Amino acid sequence: MEVLIYSIIIFIIGLCFGSFFNVVGYRLPNNMSIAFPSSHCPNCNHKLGKLELIPVLSYLFQKGKCKNCKQQISIFYPIFELLTGILFVLCYLSFKDVYPEIINIIFACLFTSSMIIIMISDIKYMIIPDEVLIFFSIVLVILKLYITYKLGIINNLLDLGYEFIFILKDGFVMFLIMYLIRLFGNFVFKKDSMGGGDIKMMIYVSFILGWKLSIVVIFIASFLALPISIFNMYKKNEHMLPFGPYLAISSLILLLGKIDLNTIINLLY
Ligand SMILES: [Zn+2]
Repeated sequence: MEVLIYSIIIFIIGLCFGSFFNVVGYRLPNNMSIAFPSSHCPNCNHKLGKLELIPVLSYLFQKGKCKNCKQQISIFYPIFELLTGILFVLCYLSFKDVYPEIINIIFACLFTSSMIIIMISDIKYMIIPDEVLIFFSIVLVILKLYITYKLGIINNLLDLGYEFIFILKDGFVMFLIMYLIRLFGNFVFKKDSMGGGDIKMMIYVSFILGWKLSIVVIFIASFLALPISIFNMYKKNEHMLPFGPYLAISSLILLLGKIDLNTIINLLY
């Protein structure tokens, strides 16, 4: 019963955060302020009232149209609100029994948040904002060190330094791997095969998951993206496919599924 009540509360909090991430994901790539102006219709500039700001429900009540000019509102808004709500609940359910519980849940929710913002701005603009990667790298590396301390792995400043260098090393190894993949891709496809945003994003992911699991992320993401890129090629649509959302989904599968290297090794043998 307690779990159900917490899940409902976290779901509602997630919906509200999702609504905020929509704003962040749409505005950051345009160098717009996150705080000003307040939310408005992109078509007629009508300022949204309190009732129009309720996640998902306002979309349903207004039948997906702006109250003022009746312009269609993108279905992406409520989808990402719902997705954030659901993923926050999954963060809670995955980590509610893993010590240190609350910090782990917050850690997972923050990582999820970064992945949602990346998905939104990569789908909309094919941009992965540096601000998002830098902000979440700093916050999550500090939290990760704190969790290691709570688990008794870090006992003094020297341990802290080693742990920090290990995290940086993961980012560096990942950078080299991504760079090699890019060179290989450019050679095979005779054109730019991977954006700089994807490389930076994977450096961030490797801070969190480590470089070995990050390679698994790339494999899963490629596997997920393959059918869609084949479909695109079949339609002779030269559209470049944003790869960020696939990397985000597979990173979340590994984190929320608490899948580590041992799980994967056991799966392979
Ligand atoms: Zn409007």
